[in-house]
Amino acid sequence: MVKIALVGCTGSIGRQVCEVVRAYPDRFCFSALVCGNNREELSRLSREFRPAAALLASEIGDPAQVFEDCDVAFIAAGGFAGLSYTLAAARAGKKIALANKESLVCGGELVLRETARSGAELVPVDSEHSALFQCLHFHRDAPYKKLVLTASGGPFLRLSEEELARVTAQEALRHPTWKMGAKVTLDSATLLNKGYEVIEAKWLYGADFGQIEAVVHPESVVHSLVCFEDGAALAQLGYPDMKVPIQLALTYPERLPCERQLDFATLGALHFERLPEERFPCFRLAVDAGKEGGTAPTVLNGAAEIAVQAFLAERITFPQIAETVRETLERVPHMAADSFATLKEADMRARAVASEYIYGK
Ligand code: MG
Repeated sequence: MVKIALVGCTGSIGRQVCEVVRAYPDRFCFSALVCGNNREELSRLSREFRPAAALLASEIGDPAQVFEDCDVAFIAAGGFAGLSYTLAAARAGKKIALANKESLVCGGELVLRETARSGAELVPVDSEHSALFQCLHFHRDAPYKKLVLTASGGPFLRLSEEELARVTAQEALRHPTWKMGAKVTLDSATLLNKGYEVIEAKWLYGADFGQIEAVVHPESVVHSLVCFEDGAALAQLGYPDMKVPIQLALTYPERLPCERQLDFATLGALHFERLPEERFPCFRLAVDAGKEGGTAPTVLNGAAEIAVQAFLAERITFPQIAETVRETLERVPHMAADSFATLKEADMRARAVASEYIYGK
């Protein structure tokens, strides 16, 4: 029986982890369930799954207490808040199923240092990084020449700059292929998410930025590819369904059945094209912050969280999301990412500066 401590149990990924545990009660159980503030749903899940601990984040003094008795730390919380849990699980030497992007985007350096020290294992859950993991035969340190991340391009792929200035929150939340939480859906529309995934790939697979490419693939069937020295490329294909990477993170190299098999007779053509960076500046802002390292990605992320909230509240336009991020990166000084406290401070400063830029003093 695999004991899972699930952080972020009421979010989009968390709910799907619950579905997997529900489908295989003889293989998985929860040692702990944690969520942000949905007390009602937490009690409901707690009655159903009977974990040893069911906690709201605000009730947790030390994140380490969540992972005392687990085999897998499943980090499905969204945003910067997920990082403190990932660090605690890394220090405890756990197997970490990582669905929180910010842990590596903001804290990659710290997380990798802690996992190296403790022997903790990082397993990607993000569909692109799970695809790369599969193409590398589940060896994160296997050799390759290039990693190719695919991007659906989001709902605004074909819009002109003028049209982008007029899009609404409602339109941005309508992702063409994936069903996800609001923040990541918005980040897919701005392509910030793909910039994040480039940074995640750097930390997960020890890649140089020059070895990572992002291409648009509107069908979201090829989840990513790995190119090798001899020119061969391996891809992982499947219908967009987060259950596959979630299950696989728990059981790899074993594969459990999933509902849908690809039907090649009706699949039709698969397309690949250049990422339209000019119209979606968040992608480059993220990659450049990743190259700079230190607190830069944390500042970028803090600013983006504030800007996305402001866009959803109809306080700024879609192009102003990137503008807010760029301005905040210029105004907040960047430092070395030597501790969680430094990152936390950078996150708070970025949020304050971004809020001031949007709403005034
Ligand atoms: Mg992804």
